[in-house]
Amino acid sequence: MILAATSSPQGTQALAAALSAEMRVGDLIVLAGDLGAGKTCFTQGMGAGLGITERMTSPTFTLINRYDQGRIELNHLDVYRLDDIAETLDLDLPELLEVGLTVIEWGEEITEVLPVDHLTIRLRYPESVEGADDDRIIQIEAGGPTWDVRLPDLAAAIEGWVA
Ligand code: ADP
Ligand code: MG
Repeated sequence: MILAATSSPQGTQALAAALSAEMRVGDLIVLAGDLGAGKTCFTQGMGAGLGITERMTSPTFTLINRYDQGRIELNHLDVYRLDDIAETLDLDLPELLEVGLTVIEWGEEITEVLPVDHLTIRLRYPESVEGADDDRIIQIEAGGPTWDVRLPDLAAAIEGWVA
């Protein structure tokens, strides 16, 4: 596991942009964390890092936004509003997972339909109440052996933020 810290939305976006350099077609990121923790903010940074210049908004109501102008295709999902896991069938995840990088906000809710081989990125507020409101802890957890092997490279890419 990698533990990193940011103290502003811009910081989280810069961290995500740095991490994007390590991302490859077929990668899956599950974003965890409470409402307002910064999952969408993080994904915007990742998109910027990939070279996406289009405005990226939360796919809370559309479920999915696809961006194909970057170095690799980015599929941004938010499954918060999914009522039934069966609705994920409409998303055609197997196809999505093949064509680009997939980032799923609230993805932990649907892990039963996701490959074990994914990276979980958890955004949380620091425990101390004295911290500024803009402080976040970003926890990166490898799911499966292929991500385990890649963790050192990810840590190196975001070295400046690693706690
Ligand atoms: P989520 O998608 O997890 O619900 P959003 O990314 O939509 O969260 O919102 C995060 C909010 O928190 C934004 O208003 C953002 O400006 C603010 N924020 C403050 N500090 C940070 C930080 N360090 N990282 C990310 N977002 C932050
Ligand atoms: Mg969001």
